[in-house]
Amino acid sequence: MFCYQCEQTAGGTGCTKVGVCGKDQDIQSLQDTLTFGLKGVAAYAYHARELGQKDEQVDAFMHEAMFATLTNVEFDLERYVGLVLKAGEMNLRAMEMLDSAHTSTFGNPSPATVARGTKAGPGIVVTGHDLLDLYELLKQTEGKGVNVYTHGEMLPAHGYPELRKFKHLVGNYGTAWQNQKKEFEQFSGAILATTNCIMIPKDSYKDRMFTCGVAGAAGVKHIEGRDFSEVIDKALSEPPLVENPQGTLSTGFHYKAVLALAGKIVEAVKAGKIRHFFFIGGCDGAKPGRNYFTEFAEKVPDDCVILTAACGKYRLNGADYGDIDGIPRLLDTGQCNDCYSAVKIALALADAFGCGVNDLPLSLVVSWYEQKAVAILLTLLHLGVKNIRLGPSLPAFLSPNVLRLLVENYDIKPTGNAEQDLAEILGS
Ligand code: SF4
Repeated sequence: MFCYQCEQTAGGTGCTKVGVCGKDQDIQSLQDTLTFGLKGVAAYAYHARELGQKDEQVDAFMHEAMFATLTNVEFDLERYVGLVLKAGEMNLRAMEMLDSAHTSTFGNPSPATVARGTKAGPGIVVTGHDLLDLYELLKQTEGKGVNVYTHGEMLPAHGYPELRKFKHLVGNYGTAWQNQKKEFEQFSGAILATTNCIMIPKDSYKDRMFTCGVAGAAGVKHIEGRDFSEVIDKALSEPPLVENPQGTLSTGFHYKAVLALAGKIVEAVKAGKIRHFFFIGGCDGAKPGRNYFTEFAEKVPDDCVILTAACGKYRLNGADYGDIDGIPRLLDTGQCNDCYSAVKIALALADAFGCGVNDLPLSLVVSWYEQKAVAILLTLLHLGVKNIRLGPSLPAFLSPNVLRLLVENYDIKPTGNAEQDLAEILGS
């Protein structure tokens, strides 16, 4: 790579800098963190814009922050730390805007029990995050004899009144995005991918797969203008799915639904019936070590409540956690697009107990994979949330100094051994 700072090949003879392109490692690390965070903010802002909402402050910051990553524009470490935290603040605005766009379009989610598996008959499975795509597909499939299934991050759609009113939205199929190849191969109907995360499709189902919106895959038909007639025709021409029920999942614990339980929750905490809250979730992936999150959830004692969100939920949502005085022990707050709900719940609990978020009996155990996870992490840092356990490994774009800054100021820790981490958190 040519370095515009010292006008030679970065890292070559005479390059005195440690990092890429003449920048020192820490500036490079903060620029990368900012760039990844901005990609996450862009995802939220894009979805909100599709639903008719935008925010001038978020847009202006996107321009400023992207500009600040240009070579030679900015070499002030402290200002970069400020920009990175500001990205977290802007992401909070973007998430709030998306939450408002979702709830004003599709209604306030409420808890839902969702059938897992398949029903006999033609079907379309929808993956990704775009609820508007799902809504349009549901309208267009109505009365056509085609069942529609959610996959991966579409599961929380079942909580929204304007989506679950469609009787042919029959359930959830499969698990998280990294299992698409196996799961889509076994799904005989049509497949619609609305956003990331997409696995490069196998030939065995490529001709049954479609993308739309920002999603795309080589050799896969892309749908324009939300006209899903080709997807519907494909579903009707393929062999029908077989009846294969696989139990149920729960979702729909949007912050408004959880706050309706706030009185009961506070009472249960005061009575010693709820000892601790854990947020366990985030972006999932195929990297070894992610079974940490399953093990952690399995070991959480019965007097604790687990909040989850994003596709990391599939690491734990297959089990029955029961309830504490009618409060479900597992609360799925939604997609990674709904992490605003988890933030609102934490802030409301702090309010109810008259303390700060860091003083709550609440621990965050977060899996990260892609850029929305980076944006959410920056939001938590902007809110001053400490003691986050992050895994299955810490981001490689954090330089030793930037990591030190996060550890010293926010007490961020890498995930380790599930049993030991849990014992350390609970002080047992
Ligand atoms: S939660 Fe993250 S990893 Fe999972 S599908 Fe959404 S963006 Fe991808």
